[in-house]
Amino acid sequence: MALRFVIIGGGPAGHQAATYAARLGGQVTLIERDVVGGAAHLWDCVPSKAMIATGGAMSFLQRVQGFGLVRAQGQVDLDGLRARITNITSRLAGATTELLESQGVRILRGTGRFVGPNRVVADTADGSEEIEADRVLIATGSRPRIPDWAEIDHHRILTTRDAYPPPELPEHLVVIGSGVTGVEFVHMFSSLGCRVTLIVSRQQVLPKKDAEVAAALEENFLQRGVNLLKGAKAIGIDRLDDGVRVRCDDGRVVVGSHALLAIGSIPNVDQLGLGHAGVELDERGFPVNVGHHLETNVKHIYVAGDVSGKLPLSSVAAMQGRKIAEHAMGLHTLDHRHLDYDMAASAIFTEPEIADVGLPEVEAFNLGRKIRVTKVPMAASPKAWIDNDTRGFVKILSDPYTGVVLGGSIVGGHAAELIAVIAVAVTNRLKVADIIDSLLVHPSLSELLADAAE
Ligand SMILES: Cc1cc2nc3c(=O)[nH]c(=O)nc-3n(C[C@H](O)[C@H](O)[C@H](O)COP(=O)(O)OP(=O)(O)OC[C@H]3O[C@@H](n4cnc5c(N)ncnc54)[C@H](O)[C@@H]3O)c2cc1C
Repeated sequence: MALRFVIIGGGPAGHQAATYAARLGGQVTLIERDVVGGAAHLWDCVPSKAMIATGGAMSFLQRVQGFGLVRAQGQVDLDGLRARITNITSRLAGATTELLESQGVRILRGTGRFVGPNRVVADTADGSEEIEADRVLIATGSRPRIPDWAEIDHHRILTTRDAYPPPELPEHLVVIGSGVTGVEFVHMFSSLGCRVTLIVSRQQVLPKKDAEVAAALEENFLQRGVNLLKGAKAIGIDRLDDGVRVRCDDGRVVVGSHALLAIGSIPNVDQLGLGHAGVELDERGFPVNVGHHLETNVKHIYVAGDVSGKLPLSSVAAMQGRKIAEHAMGLHTLDHRHLDYDMAASAIFTEPEIADVGLPEVEAFNLGRKIRVTKVPMAASPKAWIDNDTRGFVKILSDPYTGVVLGGSIVGGHAAELIAVIAVAVTNRLKVADIIDSLLVHPSLSELLADAAE
């Protein structure tokens, strides 16, 4: 009899696991209460980048003023933008559902919960169905963290999920949280023409990133008039008649038309009945997971994606889902590689775009590790001049003795695409010479990778 694999949650972790397990011969049931594709498609990666693409189109129209065009200008049509986002999300949900069904995955629309270690119930619109499982994957994702000092009203005081787009563009948006999500929302709304204040609890935006990278972004924010309130922690938000007042721990106060919270997320574990399955939570509230295979303390129950408490990225969730499917289905290939979170490429979709992978320069410095750092400015590329966007740089870190590529960061146009080359090099322990010796397209920004590797 085929192995019965039940997956709760149809985001990147859940749907990748379902696809792979079905391909490997599993009898797969996927329970999803909302949209197949998950929060990634509905609330996070896709709508945020679609909004940023509209802001990017507006910046592009400004940048091409010198291209010999008569007139190029843009004005935001909020209804059009909303319709575009809905269209993209529903197309993606449709395509993902079709793919899963074509692989033989059974999709149940409802909420999943454990009633025993090998029994899961799906509460659907038509009633409840109990399913026996040999293996179960918890892939229920996360939701925005809301502190007890903020009361979200979804009108003036928003989470990221209220912003795609809001009914009217904020006159003055106060963004709380200066990590990756916070800076993307600052970028998104300021490029749509809104006045924005960012509350930065430390002295640098993106506190976990390379200082040089953060400085490039801060410079862009200041150029477009973003107000950076540094060294201030928000401790309260008051609703005013026609706006909001954000209070900070050092006594400073910002009055704006809207406030948006981007201060992290919490795992979706509360209604899962984990106690019935014997799954324990760790001290941070994530299901305990042990070893490379992301099993919980109950051997046949796995956890993947944001709810695993590892790196909260869609790409990581999808890869975890795939690896778990292989392990659950008993596939052990000779070339099996464990997931190495230190090798995950990530990007920040601001202007300039930012992407990095592998060893951070600051970490090498703190460890006292000898590294070779080579860097070229975007302005060294003819293509950057042709595109009229010479902001930023490409930086590659390598081992000075072996030439093995250890990491890199890119600031500038198409950084999220270009980082792929360095990511492949880092994952496969390629050497700088492997990049230098590659015959690349001219004129293209990718030539900068070979220059930076020199
Ligand atoms: C604003 C924002 C932008 C982001 N942008 C990016 C980006 O550009 N690139 C990137 O890599 N990452 C990005 N992320 C992170 C990314 O969205 C997450 O890491 C990713 O969605 C995690 O995937 P997942 O499968 O764990 O969960 P999710 O995508 O959250 O999916 C979980 C699914 O489980 C369902 N579910 C929950 N409980 C139950 C239940 N009991 N029964 C049935 N179904 C249930 C939910 O409805 C949901 O559909 C962003 C995050 C945010 C907040």
